[in-house]
Amino acid sequence: MPSVIDLHAHTTASDGDDHPAELIQHALAAGIDVLAVTDHDTMSGLGQAAEAVTGSGMLLLPGIELSAQVIDKEPGSIPRSVHLLGYGVDPENVALAQEMEKIRSHRNDRLRLMVEKLAVDYELTWQEVSDAISPGATPGRPHIAQVLIDKGYFPDTSAAFAGPLRAEGPYHVPHYAPRLHRAIAVIVEAGGVPVLAHPYTGARSGAVRHDQPLDRILAGYQVFVEAGLAGLEINHRENTEEGKEVLRAVAAEFSLIVTGASDYHGTRKPNALGENTTDPSQLERILEAATGSSPIS
Ligand code: AMP
Ligand code: ZN
Ligand code: FE
Ligand code: FE
Repeated sequence: MPSVIDLHAHTTASDGDDHPAELIQHALAAGIDVLAVTDHDTMSGLGQAAEAVTGSGMLLLPGIELSAQVIDKEPGSIPRSVHLLGYGVDPENVALAQEMEKIRSHRNDRLRLMVEKLAVDYELTWQEVSDAISPGATPGRPHIAQVLIDKGYFPDTSAAFAGPLRAEGPYHVPHYAPRLHRAIAVIVEAGGVPVLAHPYTGARSGAVRHDQPLDRILAGYQVFVEAGLAGLEINHRENTEEGKEVLRAVAAEFSLIVTGASDYHGTRKPNALGENTTDPSQLERILEAATGSSPIS
């Protein structure tokens, strides 16, 4: 069984810097044995990644990072954005393709609206931002960040995200995403294994509000486990240390798959390939459960 397993990485098919073939080269150089390409709301990078991986000795697991949201029952609560990884999905599945298409279309409209708002205070045009997006790629705030950095407004993506691109800021516009229940169902229907990405980045973030007692947190997760949630990405740099402890308790309670991954986006984010990895026993569980596609070698 191969050992260095990184199950979360992005390419130019969404908001990564590396072309899919470049990502494979970088992963090989980093000593990765198994890599999952998990672009936001698209699998369009898979073909080129598969071509590059053929004969290299590395295994490529088809994946997706689907945008989703959770809306609490309390009136007036703000929807929380949640990312759902899907491993071993069938890239040809129609319902998944339609859902991804719908999200991408709304992401495009949303990014245009954000650029309109930003253009009041920053010298920025939609043409410049759309030039930063690879043809057909899933648009995201990092594409705006790139233009603002190129123009000297910010030193790096993190600074732009701490500034005008932050979700709580005046320029932010939310985009459509399916409710988490539906996102899980879509992944399962496409033969995939649904794993929550970076589930605990703060008390109020995530699929379940974490600023409540553990029994309430467990009850919150139980609903998603019953809907088909199979795993948690616990070893991720954006989960807090106390959050990882809570997540380990949740995983133990429901016998969930536990993963770790880099969430590599290229040179503009600090996340390095292989900085967090998944145990081979957990990959085995994923491969046993996935029916939509097999790893490519
Ligand atoms: P969006 O998809 O437009 O909501 O933007 C979210 C994306 O931006 C995620 O994929 C993150 O990888 C990236 N991102 C979020 N926060 C930061 C940050 N502080 N620094 C760099 N990239 C970030
Ligand atoms: Zn991203
Ligand atoms: Fe994410
Ligand atoms: Fe990601």
